[in-house]
Amino acid sequence: MVERYANCINGKWLAPGTGDYVANINPADPAEILGMFPASGGADVEQAIAAAVAASEGWRRVPGPERGKLLLRFADLLEQHTDPLAKILTKEQGKPLKESVGEVKRAAAESRFMAGEASRLAGETLPSERQGVWVQVIREPLGVVGAIMPWNFPVVTPVRKLAPALACGNTVVFKPASDTPWTGVYLMELLLEAGFPPGAVNLVMGPGSLVGQKLAESPLVQGITFTGSTTTGRRIYAATAQHLGRVQLELGGKNPAVVMDAYDLEEAAKEIVSAAFAASGQRCTAISRVLTSRAEATKLTEIIVDLASKLKVGNGLSPEVEVGPLVSQAQLEIVEGYIETAKKEGARVLTGGKRLPELGKGFYYSPTVLDKVTPKSVVAKEEVFGPVLPIIVVDSMEEALTICNDTEYGLAACVFTKDIDKAMQFATEIKTGMVHINHGTASQAHVPFGGVKNSGQGAYSIGGTAKDFCMVNKVVYLKFNQ
Ligand code: NAD
Repeated sequence: MVERYANCINGKWLAPGTGDYVANINPADPAEILGMFPASGGADVEQAIAAAVAASEGWRRVPGPERGKLLLRFADLLEQHTDPLAKILTKEQGKPLKESVGEVKRAAAESRFMAGEASRLAGETLPSERQGVWVQVIREPLGVVGAIMPWNFPVVTPVRKLAPALACGNTVVFKPASDTPWTGVYLMELLLEAGFPPGAVNLVMGPGSLVGQKLAESPLVQGITFTGSTTTGRRIYAATAQHLGRVQLELGGKNPAVVMDAYDLEEAAKEIVSAAFAASGQRCTAISRVLTSRAEATKLTEIIVDLASKLKVGNGLSPEVEVGPLVSQAQLEIVEGYIETAKKEGARVLTGGKRLPELGKGFYYSPTVLDKVTPKSVVAKEEVFGPVLPIIVVDSMEEALTICNDTEYGLAACVFTKDIDKAMQFATEIKTGMVHINHGTASQAHVPFGGVKNSGQGAYSIGGTAKDFCMVNKVVYLKFNQ
């Protein structure tokens, strides 16, 4: 018997008003239905927004440190539930269990950091032009936040959005991606168990074009925090603009790794392969192009191909598996399409470049490395969001930088070099939100995270900057007798 799951509005589990459900399938075995999840309609969204509005006045008055205590309890619960939650994550998203465990632990760490931030919601006091007057800038909650999720990190991304919003005194309507609603339900259960009051967080599942769009359009929702594609980000930006809502958009990337006079090509290749193929390349910060000096190209390519071809692909629940299936048939077809285009544009497949039907009916695609890639080709410029790594040969740091910056994206970039001048030239000239020197594109649980150009808009998430999205300023002039 396949279980039916419900939305959670004002602390109550409710069937969708539409009465419609969609099947959530296991990408490693598409015949397995993991559960039936609500295909909610406009009335469900309105009900969830109304619950968040009603809860807002009470929640914003709870002292910050008290709100922080609930986030600490939530972090503890995430850790206690690591194994079942990680298993659900692997089953519905496909990534290897080891990565899922890491994601839950990372979510706990981010929640803990934000729990502390709830005691650090400081404003500032300014000197006054007049005697007997104090001027203060205090920070207040934004109000109701709509949080719209992607499917690639369905545990840490919601926590990255919900924890700061709640720490800062906002109430939330939380919409998981349609491919990964199960982890959303589990997180909601843990939030209730942690003691967040009814209406502080409301879960509504359903199609983005309806549930997400309606959240963005609502003037009762003061801010939308969104992670997903640049195309959807633009739609949300346009919808919120109608009522001058605030946005925090974390979008796509085309993240380069430049290798030029590297300390150690083996180490650089290991970092690159790990950052390129984790989560089957379905990461916004995945390294998705390598630019190598001509002198290092042959050796570097040889090591990368060797490492990539040895990656064990399979069902993420098997402990030895390093690369799981793609999340869906649609994603598999997108990746395949990019490889076909790349070949037509002259690229050579050095390893991978094919489905793996021998592994079963799962959405498996082999880790793929391409060379003979020209900088203007589609695979060199567009985000593939799959296990595909193109290699481009360059003759100077100037040329590398020109190619790196010749894309609509600006999320993360790395350089592997022992030449401090080249490292600093790269860090200064690259147009991305994050730069890594002799380091893959991994982020940390307390450090601001975000992108420029078409990779992001609004305050960076994670770390202290998350508060800039979640709070508004109020300036207070206080006159007293002196
Ligand atoms: P997506 O844009 O298709 O969907 C993201 C979410 O938006 C889903 O919940 C979807 O239901 C919802 N949505 C769809 N249409 C909507 C609309 N009109 N209004 C409101 N919401 C709507 O993206 P995806 O396929 O889930 O995720 C992949 C993309 O996310 C990639 O481009 C990737 O780079 C990006 N991403 C970025 C980051 C980052 O931090 N920068 C992190 C992870 C993923």
